[in-house]
Amino acid sequence: MVLTDQSKIQVNRLNKEDFIDEGKIEELLEANKHPEKKRIREIIQKSLSIQRLEPDELAALINIEDKEVWEEVFQSAGEVKRRVYDKRIVTFAPLYLSNFCVNSCVYCAFRRENKRVKRRRLSLEEVRKETEALVSLGHKRLIVVYGEHPLSNIDYITQSIKVVYQTKKGKGEIRRVNVNCAPLSIEELRMLKEVGIGTYQVFQETYSHKTYQEVHPAGRKADYRWRLYSLHRAFEAGIDDVGIGVLFGLYDWRFELMGLLYHTIDLEKHFGVGPHTISFPRLEPAENTPFVQNARYRVSDEDFKKIIALIRLSVPYTGMILTAREPAYIRRQVLPLGITQTDASTRIGIGAYSEDYRKQEAERQQFLLGDTRSLDELVRELAQKGYIVSFCTAGYRCGRTGRYIMDLLQQGKERWFCKMNAVLTFREWLDDFASSETKAQGEELIRKELKELKEQLPHFFSQFMNYYKRIKDGERDLYF
Ligand code: SAM
Ligand code: SF4
Repeated sequence: MVLTDQSKIQVNRLNKEDFIDEGKIEELLEANKHPEKKRIREIIQKSLSIQRLEPDELAALINIEDKEVWEEVFQSAGEVKRRVYDKRIVTFAPLYLSNFCVNSCVYCAFRRENKRVKRRRLSLEEVRKETEALVSLGHKRLIVVYGEHPLSNIDYITQSIKVVYQTKKGKGEIRRVNVNCAPLSIEELRMLKEVGIGTYQVFQETYSHKTYQEVHPAGRKADYRWRLYSLHRAFEAGIDDVGIGVLFGLYDWRFELMGLLYHTIDLEKHFGVGPHTISFPRLEPAENTPFVQNARYRVSDEDFKKIIALIRLSVPYTGMILTAREPAYIRRQVLPLGITQTDASTRIGIGAYSEDYRKQEAERQQFLLGDTRSLDELVRELAQKGYIVSFCTAGYRCGRTGRYIMDLLQQGKERWFCKMNAVLTFREWLDDFASSETKAQGEELIRKELKELKEQLPHFFSQFMNYYKRIKDGERDLYF
């Protein structure tokens, strides 16, 4: 592993230099205008051989003008996804624990100035109840989400994560807790690592320095570089699964895509591995938040498809997260373009899962969701289309994280572990949580998957079937 040059990072922060060179990005976008088809096809071939693209190559793809060539891009993005991840989709649920916030992000209902939002922080007993409600649906992965505030400081964050892991109900439990919270210090990140988190996510929101200042006018979040280097600090603290993201709609999506790629490259440069996941939320309406309706750079559905396909092609082996912000019809359209993870049964009001309120309540939410379908409905719909929902959390529990997992993905090796674990966890979920309709649909898919495993992994198959039968007989949490 390349050792971090932490002192250089600090010096860069002081010098007000960082790895987002806006002049260079603009130059590359300009220099790669009107790309030739031949060049585009070569770049696509590079992605298909599961290699990360360079900024000038992404700039050329961004500048494609021909509709037919965009179709090739969409097809190839789907093919890259299949080569690395097959037809697996991982699901999770977000769990909002506190919406107190000291920041002033103009796009977010939780900003401190917003008096119309009902503030609440869950007690640890309430965290347990929320987790029980999610476990009862069959979720195995959560992402816990917090505003930035002394009430949700690192002690609260770590205590609440411990409660999530300790909560069991029937055969259910949460086996991986990912975290989305404010940037932390290295010392705080070490505490987060201690409690055994999965991925640590911090979205830069926008890579444009000027826009960043405009949309974060006050509070701790106003410091662009403190946020930009938050995931470098996470690596320093020993967390090697990190998630980056852009809130699309704040600035020009073309520039933001280049920013995501430069962020990836800088993490690779310092730590030998890029982000574990990339997120690409679009601005959604939020209570008493007029900025959203007036946003100049809102992303159309057509451009959203391009964004997803281009992320898939530029960083072929990274997980890509599509959230329930998007309505069902968009999720159906973009899923084949490279998505690896998505949430289901999503409620983002504080306390919403255990209180079982199904309607959205804007004054309790950060923004409004586009898709509140249940996990059971989502699993069924995906199974009908041949996608297997994986509840696998084996990777990080077996130490397959950071660079190690990315290498395995790049070499196409992880797919076999993942495929077997997907079938095992899908079997568990069907037996423990599925409705009869979903179960029937799922059985059909499992038959197909078993046939493929038998053909493709003959040496492993008998050991796999041993686990599979034990799970059918009621044992749980067996994995490769
Ligand atoms: N408070 C922490 C922070 O800002 O880093 C936690 C993140 S916040 C609860 C999760 C993400 O939601 C933000 O990083 C932002 O990208 C996104 N978000 C905020 N307002 C949004 C809106 N109106 N529509 C869609 N996504 C939004
Ligand atoms: Fe607070 Fe995060 Fe919302 Fe900004 S996006 S106001 S930091 S909760």
